[in-house]
Order: sequence, then structure tokens, then C-alpha cells
Amino acid sequence: MYHQLEPGWHGLCEDARMEPLPALPCLALFRSHREYRDARSWLARYWERDRLLRARLFGKKSIEGLCALCRKRCEFSLPAEEGADALRESLHCRGCGLNNRLRAAIALWLAYGGPKAHARIYLSEQTTPLYAWLKCRFPDAIGSEYLGAERMPGECVPDPALGALRHEDLTRLSFASESIEHLLCFDVLEHLPQHLPALREFARVLVPGGVLVLSAPFDCEREDHEERARVAEDGRIEHLLPPIYHGDPLSPERGILCYRTYGWKLLEELREHGFSESVLALVWSPGHGHLGWPNLVLLARRDGSPALEQPSIGEIPGEHEMPAPLIA
Ligand SMILES: [Zn+2]
Repeated sequence: MYHQLEPGWHGLCEDARMEPLPALPCLALFRSHREYRDARSWLARYWERDRLLRARLFGKKSIEGLCALCRKRCEFSLPAEEGADALRESLHCRGCGLNNRLRAAIALWLAYGGPKAHARIYLSEQTTPLYAWLKCRFPDAIGSEYLGAERMPGECVPDPALGALRHEDLTRLSFASESIEHLLCFDVLEHLPQHLPALREFARVLVPGGVLVLSAPFDCEREDHEERARVAEDGRIEHLLPPIYHGDPLSPERGILCYRTYGWKLLEELREHGFSESVLALVWSPGHGHLGWPNLVLLARRDGSPALEQPSIGEIPGEHEMPAPLIA
């Protein structure tokens, strides 16, 4: 059985500098491929609604909606090219500057994780607008980049913009065990030749009950991961499928290889590697500036805490229950 969120599932963010969250821009939570398959016909109604909305966007430069991070009505810029896929990396909010994908992940984290102002937060990026956004609101947050195999975990190098740029390797983090309360990792896992050592590290450094928020290329129709490349015994990279490179802020001209697309097995792997709870959230809410194929965000909680409060299974929310985007 799938778990549809109540439209009024509010966040519990205790940061004094933030207003309470508006209703969460999340469509549904799934714990397995089977739950997702059971909900397909229900979900199809939303894809149709999305298609109709997108058809009305032709020639528009922006839409208006409620930004769950800015806590107010904002404008979201539309991409020049059409199609549901282009919307994931666009729809930048004119207020916070963050795109559809990142706003979705952060809105869910604020609601699910309820971070306090001085929470111990680790974000696996540091040279990005998201890090700047986070550091302004959560001054104790730590960010890092991967600066090469020759660096020591936790080593900092001088940086003209940041002062110090920190190096971390997700498969051997420098943090003490049970020292991090919130671990945020967006579109990084797929660039590791092996991702299971990173999952083990995430569980090691998180406190019991600590929260992991993860995004990575995910195919809802797959149970197993699709391995696109692997490192052979001699160290060479062997391509099993045509290589795909993603943008890399530290290497914009070269990009970074994507080793795999994840399937539902990732949720099981999290449960096998120290997480008591793992769910996949589908974020689609035109009124919050989340259009196109839903953003997929994995939420997991480290063992040693009560399970995620079971969201109630309600009726399918009607148009009137979700703020509609303003398409002038
Ligand atoms: Zn915003």
C-alpha cells in the first residue's frame, strides 16, 4: 500500500529565522517498487494534469507559486527548451535562487528532519548556491567537495570565495561516529564506482535517529540498479552502456561520469546498511513551482529511533487543495 501525504502535512522546523512551512509540496511516499506499481493508475492522473499544465506554458518565461523555502509567493523561471525533463534543473526561484530539484529536496528535509538552528548538518557540496543558502540559515552546517585521492579526509585548502574548501571522500568520511544529525547528499552517489561503502559511512557518522536526504538518478520502473560503468581490476573504467557525464562545478569542461541509475533496491540497501526507515518521496506540486516529472527524494532515518510517523492515507487531493500556479 502506498502512502499518500495529507496536503496539510506541515513541517516542524524550529529555526527562529524561518516561518512555519506551508503545506508540503509532496505527492506521495513509497517504500517499495510494489507500492509504487499499485499506485500507477492513481499517479497517471497527475501526469495527465502535468501534461496539460505544461502545454499552457508555451512561450512563458516564468510561473508564480509558493516557495517552500522562501515561505512566500515567488517567481520560478522556465527553461528555454520544452519537456518535462528540462524542468528538473530549472524553475529557479527568484527568491532563494534554487532550482526545482533542490527546492524539492530541501522542503522535504525541513519537514521530515525538523532541523534546529544549530543542528550538526553535513552537505556533500560546498561550492554551490545550495551550500550558501544552507550556511546562512544553519551556521554550523559543514559542506565539502571531493578534491582528489591525494587529499586527506577533512583536509581544508584555501579558497578565494569560501576561505577554506574542505575535502571529503564519501566512502571514508573524516567525521567521528554518531556525530552528524542531518546528512544531505544530492546527485553525488551515482558518481562513485561503489556506493555501498558510502551508505555504510552515512550510517556510521549519523547519530541514532539521524536523517539522510538523498537524491540520485532513479528509475521508478527498475528494481535493480542499471550499472552503466565499472572499474576493472586493472583500474580502467569499463563502460557497459554509452557513458553519461554530469555537470561538475569543480570541473565544468570535463564533467563527471555517472556509474549507474538506481532502482528500488537502493531503499533495501539503506535498510540493510543501518537505516531503520527508507522511503522515496515523489515531489510534484505546480503551486509550489514543482512541475514536470516529479522530483524523487529519498528520506532515511538511522537505526535507533522510532520509525517515520506513518502519514495518513487520505483521499486523492483535488485541485482546490493544492495551490495552483499562476500562469498569467
Ligand atoms: Zn525560494
